[in-house]
Parts: sequence; C-alpha cells; structure tokens
Amino acid sequence: MFKEVKSTLNFPEMEHEVLRFWEEQRTFKKLQEKNKGRKHWSFIDGPITANNPMGVHHAWGRTYKDIFQRFKAMQGYDERYQNGFDCQGLWVEVEVEKELGLNSKREIIQYGLDRFAEQCRKRVEKYSAIQTEQSKRLGQWMDWENSYYTMSDTNIEYIWYFLKKCWENGWLYKGQRAMPWCSRCGTSLSQHELIDSYREMTHDSVYLKLPILERPGEFMMVWTTTPWTLTGNVALAVHPELDYAKVRQSDGILYLSAGTVHKLDGDYEILGTVKGSKLVGLHYKGPFYDLPAQQGIETRVVPWDCVGEEEGVGVVHIAPGCGAEDYELSQELGLPVIVPIDENGYYYEGFGWLEGRFVGEVAEMIFHDLEEKGMLYKTEKYEHRYPVCWRCQEELVFRLVDEWFIACDKIRQPMIREARKVHWVPDYAGKRMEDWLNNMGDWCISRKRFWGLPLPFYPCSCGEITIIGSRKEL
Ligand SMILES: [Zn+2]
Ligand SMILES: [Zn+2]
Repeated sequence: MFKEVKSTLNFPEMEHEVLRFWEEQRTFKKLQEKNKGRKHWSFIDGPITANNPMGVHHAWGRTYKDIFQRFKAMQGYDERYQNGFDCQGLWVEVEVEKELGLNSKREIIQYGLDRFAEQCRKRVEKYSAIQTEQSKRLGQWMDWENSYYTMSDTNIEYIWYFLKKCWENGWLYKGQRAMPWCSRCGTSLSQHELIDSYREMTHDSVYLKLPILERPGEFMMVWTTTPWTLTGNVALAVHPELDYAKVRQSDGILYLSAGTVHKLDGDYEILGTVKGSKLVGLHYKGPFYDLPAQQGIETRVVPWDCVGEEEGVGVVHIAPGCGAEDYELSQELGLPVIVPIDENGYYYEGFGWLEGRFVGEVAEMIFHDLEEKGMLYKTEKYEHRYPVCWRCQEELVFRLVDEWFIACDKIRQPMIREARKVHWVPDYAGKRMEDWLNNMGDWCISRKRFWGLPLPFYPCSCGEITIIGSRKEL
C-alpha cells in the first residue's frame, strides 16, 4: 500500500537534487519574472566581509534573510535580491600581511602600497567567489551576478559624495583623539582590537611628592603605573567631595586621600582632613618642569568626578597626550596637551635627555631623575591587567593622533526624529537605537592604515581644505 521508504537518508544528496531541479527549471528566474513590475519590497543586505570562507554563523544569518525574501516573494513582491561584500579594513590587511610575511606598517611601505593593495584586492576577489559558491550551495536565492562590492569605484564615489555633503553642512572636522597605540606596528588599535588583549603583568609603579607652589614645605602625593607619561603631565586631579588627609612626615606635609594613608612608609602624623575641593586651584611643581616641552605650562590641581581611591592615593596624574580620559578632561577644562612620543614610540625633540629614547626602556632612568629632584617617594611592583598588541604582543601605549570626525551633535536630533518613524521589530530595538543615538560621541572615520576607502580630503598648507565629491571633480 505504501511506497517503500529508505531507512537511510543522504541529506547532502537530497539538497543537490533540489538545487539541480531549481537550476533545470530556472525556478528562481521564473519567480523573478512572475513578480516583476509588481509592488516593490527591498531587502537591504548588510555586506559580509569577504576575507575568509563563510562560517556557520554566516549560514545561520543568511538562512533567515532567505526565508524573509521567499516569504515576500510568495506574497507577490518584486524584490531587489542584491548581495553585498564588505571588502576593506584591517582584517583583510592582517591576513594579507600574514600571507606575505610582513610584520609592520614600515614593512608594508617597503613592500609598496600599490602592490600591497593589489594583494588585498586579490584576497577579496578570491573569498567573495568562495562565499558566493557557499551561499548557492546553501540554497540562498540572490541575484549572484549583481553583487555589490564596497571597494568598487561606484561605492567609493557615493561615499565621497556623502562626505562632501557632510563638509558643506559643517559636520566634518579634523580633530585629535587619544588612541591605544602599538609603537612596533606604528598604528592605533580600535576598540574591538582590544578585546582579549589584556594580560596579567607586573610594572614598577611610582609614588611622587610634588611641591605645592603656594605652600612651601607642602606636597601633593600622586601615583602612576606609567612613568613615561609623567613627561606629559599638566595637572593633578582630585575628587572634590573626597576627604584628603593632611599628613606630617619627617620635615614635610603631604596630601593624599584619607583612605590611602596606610600606603605611606614609616611614621607619620595625621594633622586633619580637607575636602578635595579645597585643594583645587593650587599650583605644583610638575615632575618634568625642567624639560623644554613643559615651559609655560601652569601645572595645577583640578576637580574630576572620576577620581577614586581603590588604587593609588586618590590623586590622578593627568597627561592629556597619553590617555583617552585625560584628553577628554583636558577638553572640558581647557588644559594644555603634550604629546611626548612619535609613532614608533621614541621621545620627540623638546624632551631633553629623553629625546630619541624608546618609551619601553625609560622607567629606571625616570625614577633616577625624579629621585635627584627630590620628588620620588617610593616605587612599588604593581600587578595589573595591561593591554598588548594582538598582532605582535608589544605593550600598548596611548597616543594622541589626528583623525577625521563627523560631528554627531549636529545630526543627533534629525537622526532621532527619523529613527522614531521606523517600525522596529522587536520594538525594544527602537529604544536601543535611540539610546545609542543619544549617547554617541563624534564619529571617527579615518584610520592610519592602507586598505580602506580613500578619504578625498586635501588640506593645503594655507589652511584651506578641499573635499572631492566625485571622480569627475578629481
Ligand atoms: Zn603591534
Ligand atoms: Zn592653499
């Protein structure tokens, strides 16, 4: 009565059969022709990075996308069916560097930027072809002959047009940002490159006592784990509400937060406490007041709500050219910014005896120098988690670099207005989008790398900037 059913099923074979059937019957083409000219429904596919073969997670996402498109096709909609490939970015560069055995930005430059870009392009072509075959095998229906590539001239030209519009609207500007920096690779690292890059390690931390100019014989205590950044010190930050102890030790008076007094060595006498706000505005002698780069800088105590006393002495050394938070604070308070090291980690001119020295080998010399100036209180081994470069394992530093930004305050309200018109599924995604728009900082669109969208910005030494909006203009 029943047709016999095989007890073993060969799924791959069945899938091939279905794919063959679709191919022979031109099923997808027929579907497109049937719906052609009817009501439009456009699925905008976010481009997949064409840097490796697809993984299971890609197949998963593509399955959902395919289901939506098939559902809409069954309802009779005329669809776009355009797949996209994301072609640029550091991930492609890193794989190509590995293939070519290159190890740093300098080696890429020696190899030749044109040849390097050619290799990146080849890799994208290779893997976009592989991903296309994988997607077909998955049974995904797309107009595979018509995929878009972010590295295509058409795409680049659209973005140039967009950037020029931003410029005309006054949204585009060149600014500075303190970035995690690898001095060996000579490049900044983005947030997602810092994931998993923290290692347990031990550094020499240092406690300093810096003379308060208005009060001879009295000192601000401060602690840091990165002595090289002391050359860029411009301020000491205290929490205005925190209690600070006034402590007599040998022949001097020290200020440090009340909860950290136990970190002092030897005998001491607590004379009283004051709120941090009472210390704000005092001037002190900076640890490297004697360097040319520090001339004319008024080092002073400033208020900062982020200061705590879990580590150190409740006083934070501020070097805006060497740290992201420090830089932000400097912008709020109008503090000067000193950048001590170049892109390969060597001290710039203006740093006296440090000039030309590598940042990784100065700690001992700096301690010695501070000791001679009578500013060194003590050093102490400090175990902490510190980031290293994921490519070369070099310890990262922070460096202030020039980058291009889109100012988000100007576009925030219009974007929130538009986002509210969207029908979000699920609806909390809309709330999340609005939170993100409310909190987004200025958008850094430039990278100090090679294989990316070429930014069409041409600054002239006279200060004028020309933004090219199309190939024709170029
Ligand atoms: Zn590196
Ligand atoms: Zn000019």
